Amino acid sequence: MNFQPAPGQELLRKAVREFAEREVAPLVEEMERTDEVPLDLIKKMGAQGYLGVTVPAEEGGTGLGHLARMILLEELGRVSAAMSMSLQCLQFGAGCVREFGSAGQKERYMRPLAKGEMLAAAAITEAGGGSDPAGIATEALDCGDHYLLNGRKVFITNSHIADLGVFIARTKDAPKKEFSAFLVEKGTPGFHPGRAEKKIGFHGCVTGELVLENCRVPKENLLGEEGQGLAIALKGVSDYGRTGIVGVALGLMQASLEAAVKFAGERVLYGKPISALPAVHFRIAEMYADLEASRLLAYRAAWLLDQGRRADTEIAATKFFATEAALRCARKAMDIHGAYGCIKGYAAERYCRDAQLLVPADGTNDIMRVVAGRSLTARRG
Ligand SMILES: Cc1cc2nc3c(=O)[nH]c(=O)nc-3n(C[C@H](O)[C@H](O)[C@H](O)COP(=O)(O)OP(=O)(O)OC[C@H]3O[C@@H](n4cnc5c(N)ncnc54)[C@H](O)[C@@H]3O)c2cc1C
Repeated sequence: MNFQPAPGQELLRKAVREFAEREVAPLVEEMERTDEVPLDLIKKMGAQGYLGVTVPAEEGGTGLGHLARMILLEELGRVSAAMSMSLQCLQFGAGCVREFGSAGQKERYMRPLAKGEMLAAAAITEAGGGSDPAGIATEALDCGDHYLLNGRKVFITNSHIADLGVFIARTKDAPKKEFSAFLVEKGTPGFHPGRAEKKIGFHGCVTGELVLENCRVPKENLLGEEGQGLAIALKGVSDYGRTGIVGVALGLMQASLEAAVKFAGERVLYGKPISALPAVHFRIAEMYADLEASRLLAYRAAWLLDQGRRADTEIAATKFFATEAALRCARKAMDIHGAYGCIKGYAAERYCRDAQLLVPADGTNDIMRVVAGRSLTARRG
């Protein structure tokens, strides 16, 4: 067992930390205030190779892999969970094309997606119930030389900046084949964003509706095969979505810990910094344990993906553990700040709001327990 990060991973961490502190940190306050997506920054991250970190070099990426992606999202999330969330969902959309695209689709989309010249959203959830695929009502009607798509997706990250939507729809008139996946390009008549949600956190990362109204999609835009939609959604959501959420959670925990230690060293009570109080030590020690335990789970799950293995059970367990740990850490950082923790401008309250959004995103933590629990009991059965 080797706990020593590879030299390339350490270099990446250093480079992303510098980038995040130089380019992202100055924008955080404005993102909080306006809730607007800093598109130029996303494009810059694309040019930097951050979007294509799991995309092989021959397809336009850097091919560093899933563990490198985890480190990247962690370092971005340490400065801005919203930016890390935007990036991870763009990688999720691109990941579906990378894993299931035909040679023609990869040729058309992978380079621009890896370089951030094109931005992809993964559009699965509908108002009928995110946890229950039976709630997907979006329909794709086979019209011979094209499909006709109708439906409305909700809670889609990057909805209003996406150039390409990966949609899961019911393949109408093919009941046995059920769900299929489709690539829909911006500018296709009938495809447009709907309402942008006002969220408690992740300000500067847009989450909203994507609408399909009598949208004609060429046959060659079917992703994978007819009937493969759910398999595509499940692999995409596990390998890219949930692992991405975990990366954001690690960054939030690191930021919470650093903010708590800093504040405790500066706040003087009883003639001494509160970092001398045992109650503060306890909170900081618990935050550290939560962060390190999450990191070990997360890095191992990402490493399994880099070995070409399925890791749905490990990823589901890591997602609920790390996101709940992020909530605990953010809450402790807030508590250590006393009343300052509830004041805007002190990052602790932002960490709390952002951490809560990690719980439902890409599958609620109840569903994570269902996925992990079912798989573990089946192994013993
Ligand atoms: C910030 C954010 C970003 C998101 N980005 C995307 C995106 O890019 N693309 C996308 O497609 N979706 C996205 N989503 C949607 C997300 O995947 C769904 O919110 C999630 O799947 C849950 O669906 P729901 O909100 O409809 O909750 P519901 O499914 O309605 O669940 C309601 C409650 O019932 C519980 N529950 C449901 N089923 C079970 C069960 N079997 N056992 C125990 N409890 C259960 C849930 O845990 C929850 O507490 C995003 C959500 C958020 C918050």
